[in-house]
Amino acid sequence: MSEVFTGSFTQQEPIPEAGIEAAVAVMRHGRLHRYNTVAGETAQTVLLEQEFAAYVGVKYCLAVASGGYAMATALRAVGVQAGDRVLTNAFTLAPVPGAIAAVGAVPVFVGVTPALVLDLDDLAAKADQGDVLLLSHMRGHLCDMDRLMEICDASGIIVIEDCAHTMGAAWKGKASGTWGKVGCYSCQTYKHMNAGEGGLFVTDDAEVAARAIMYSGSYMMYEKHLAGPPSEVFETIRFETPNISGRMDNLRAAILRPQLADLATQCARWNERYYAVEAGVRDTAGLTVIDRPAEETIVGSSIQFLLDGWGENAVQDLLARCAARGVELKWFGNAEPVGFTSRYDSWRYVDAPAMPASDRVLAGIIDMRVPLTFSLEDCALIARIIRDEVGRVYQAPH
Ligand SMILES: *Cc1c(COP(=O)(O)O)cnc(C)c1O
Repeated sequence: MSEVFTGSFTQQEPIPEAGIEAAVAVMRHGRLHRYNTVAGETAQTVLLEQEFAAYVGVKYCLAVASGGYAMATALRAVGVQAGDRVLTNAFTLAPVPGAIAAVGAVPVFVGVTPALVLDLDDLAAKADQGDVLLLSHMRGHLCDMDRLMEICDASGIIVIEDCAHTMGAAWKGKASGTWGKVGCYSCQTYKHMNAGEGGLFVTDDAEVAARAIMYSGSYMMYEKHLAGPPSEVFETIRFETPNISGRMDNLRAAILRPQLADLATQCARWNERYYAVEAGVRDTAGLTVIDRPAEETIVGSSIQFLLDGWGENAVQDLLARCAARGVELKWFGNAEPVGFTSRYDSWRYVDAPAMPASDRVLAGIIDMRVPLTFSLEDCALIARIIRDEVGRVYQAPH
């Protein structure tokens, strides 16, 4: 009888006890709003910002309502205006072009390589088409950040990093989120720290930080931002920056702080699971594992592989067979958006020219979540099921 996996691909671990206790304490005193503090008290939100800034190694941090809000705020804070064109990845998730659309700007898609990173030749070719790049480290894959920054610096392009999948990751030891002007993170349930919803915004630029604080809805309480720039930076900014409310509250921050303290351990646990799956599916005919560059410090909270040159029917057959054995795979090649796997040509509010080279890559991308509730044995079992079913469906070309 063939083996079946019975675990859940969407089940995260519980909130650590310390987070539950801290959340209960906030509920007991009732001061959930970040600016609602008593004398001598530092809000949980502020403490989270200080701790996250120290963790990433940046000067300023702002906690906000979501990752998407952090990205839209970053675009506004660096001066993107309605009608501007913003470069971004063709291979990413819907909130990324959505953040661009939220500020009335227009996404210009840059292609994806078979290594699942931004195509830097395509970026260089399109460098005159926008002044800002919203770079999505999609599914945790980091491109050659030195070369990316070289291209962007040479053309005066401001880089904003979408680190929804790279909290804890680095390129050549330098944290993702610190290469560009702003780093944006999500604290939604399926990311690396779980507050249900939430976002973090980091920068070393005092003016950008001040604008972001004003946008997030600080009224005039910016002096309470201990991970923010000094008050004089707000002198004129406070009059010219609209309040577009999107703050984080103390309850979420309380839940997140103990998770941040555990993050390094959790990242190591993700990687054990990632490499257990990878080892199990490597060298399967018809399936290509994505080799990770030595410069990359990964956080393997999801894994991708390529089915090169497979036809649609074969891919659908594989997905159905794996699903029947409890293994949930997602496919980025689907013509219609399904769940989170939409593609650049499903966002029809953008008039995007066809990208045949990227289409060929997207047509073969299979994606699988690797939640920490999986044991290493679960990972080995899942890999055996995938290998087995690929072996049944795949016909080697002659
Ligand atoms: C989740 C996600 C976001 C946005 O996060 P939210 O907190 O859900 O707004 C941005 N980019 C990518 C690639 C994501 O997966």
